Amino acid sequence: MTAPVRRVVVLGGGSAGFLAAITLKMRIPQLDVTVLRSKEIGIIGVGEGTTNYVPEHLHAYLGIPVGDVFADAEPLWKLGVRFLWGPRPAFHYPFTTQVDRPEQGLSQRVGYYCDDDFAFADRTAALMAAGRAFGRLDNGAPLIERNFAYHLENERFVGFLERQAARVGVTVRETTVQAVDRDDGGIAALRLAGGDVVTADLYVDCSGFRSELLGEALDEPFDSFDSTLFCDRAIVGGWARGDEPILPYTTAETMNAGWCWQIEHEHRINRGYVYASAFVSDDEAEREFRARCPKVANTRVVRFVSGSRRRAWVKNVVGIGNAAGFVEPLEATALFVICAASQALTASLIDSAGSPDAVLATQFNAYCTRLWNAIRNFLAVHYRFNTRLDSAFWRACRADVDLAGAAPIVEYYRAHGPTSLWADTLIDPLDPFRLDGYFTLLIGQQVPYRHRWTAPVAETRRWQDVKAGYADLARSGFTIAEALTLVRSPQGQWSPGFFRP
Ligand SMILES: Cc1cc2nc3c(=O)[nH]c(=O)nc-3n(C[C@H](O)[C@H](O)[C@H](O)COP(=O)(O)OP(=O)(O)OC[C@H]3O[C@@H](n4cnc5c(N)ncnc54)[C@H](O)[C@@H]3O)c2cc1C
Repeated sequence: MTAPVRRVVVLGGGSAGFLAAITLKMRIPQLDVTVLRSKEIGIIGVGEGTTNYVPEHLHAYLGIPVGDVFADAEPLWKLGVRFLWGPRPAFHYPFTTQVDRPEQGLSQRVGYYCDDDFAFADRTAALMAAGRAFGRLDNGAPLIERNFAYHLENERFVGFLERQAARVGVTVRETTVQAVDRDDGGIAALRLAGGDVVTADLYVDCSGFRSELLGEALDEPFDSFDSTLFCDRAIVGGWARGDEPILPYTTAETMNAGWCWQIEHEHRINRGYVYASAFVSDDEAEREFRARCPKVANTRVVRFVSGSRRRAWVKNVVGIGNAAGFVEPLEATALFVICAASQALTASLIDSAGSPDAVLATQFNAYCTRLWNAIRNFLAVHYRFNTRLDSAFWRACRADVDLAGAAPIVEYYRAHGPTSLWADTLIDPLDPFRLDGYFTLLIGQQVPYRHRWTAPVAETRRWQDVKAGYADLARSGFTIAEALTLVRSPQGQWSPGFFRP
């Protein structure tokens, strides 16, 4: 890039566009940031689960008060994912460290004691098992810690982000980019409907799957993850909540040719069947979906390809969101990658005093690639070892899913079980799932390992006591509905990261 970056144009007003825009503007207030978006083209309208990185981004990195987000975007807390997956009836993947941790009175890491039921292996998993959102302190107040993620309704969340963008001085322009001028520096100008021409020092491509700048104009190659991830469509629907309890987690349920999510909103339950079109037609998928979720009203099919552009930052264009890549939503990671990339771009501009060069862009690209690969690798373990159904799709997954970068972790686990001995060599420090995530999925799916270790009787008893203690704590906890009443009470007060009644 030749000129210092003073003017940034973000193409796209979905969650990627607005998250990128507010991140840049809130951390670098002198930047002139404009969002161009077309209501006619619209936003994707899905993307409702997050990881715990997203609240951290909104509240810790950007400093947006928790109460403001609750008042406007109306998120609900998500403690993790409940998997109806593998031979167990269910298991939980919380955002805490569940199995790769020591416990007083046990000589091995907790994972070695989890052959049988491990529903209450840590406090957060226990809360999930009990359908509770938060523990209860001795004084009766909720213990709201910082290890939760959010469930967000996509359109409501984008509305909140747009209002936040206006508050911090981002310009939003309703228009359609109809043509793109290129030059040696990348993009020279955007030609808008009505004849206007817009230029910038840096273009952030958040145009969704259309990838208007990075993909279409600059022709950056797309690297597919289809040797690992066979699903390429989702049928989505939902219904108005009746008397169903609000669950503090996303449910991921095995289906004949993929899996189905259940995402909890206060007044709505949304479900989606993610499937592989090579194994099931849209009509068959719809039939299976409706049989599993009889309350679903209208449905629509969303097509996608898992993979990413080889480089996210090319010349004067940085792609963020679906324009740069997408990995299917089994771990609800897209908003996390958007936040991480927005932070990395912002840090790059700050560190280079507004004049980023190609060397810096190379590192940004390496960072994004490692995030995409980490997600692909982790999902590989979900697909390769799920023995719950004997359908053509799952047989193909068990036979053919490419473990990619997960292969050394799986090989080590199959020999030695859930030991953290080689954590530093087995796992990328940027990997958001950590060894604990892998072990949870491998233990949860009862993947066997060779070097068995048998717990002495005293330790087995101790482990039963530990789990019983977490179960008791969880049962006395707050449901989501109770927690909502509390945070909405007039005396309720948010402070960074937690809540004081
Ligand atoms: C089935 C499915 C389930 C998903 N579930 C999750 C989940 O649980 N959690 C999660 O984190 N993510 C999930 N995602 C991903 C998530 O939906 C997106 O990554 C996220 O919403 C970001 O979308 P986006 O902003 O990149 O794209 P979009 O929402 O598509 O926004 C694109 C924007 O670009 C604008 N635009 C495009 N072209 C032009 C043009 N020529 N001129 C002007 N404007 C233009 C559009 O108007 C729009 O404003 C899911 C995705 C799919 C497909």
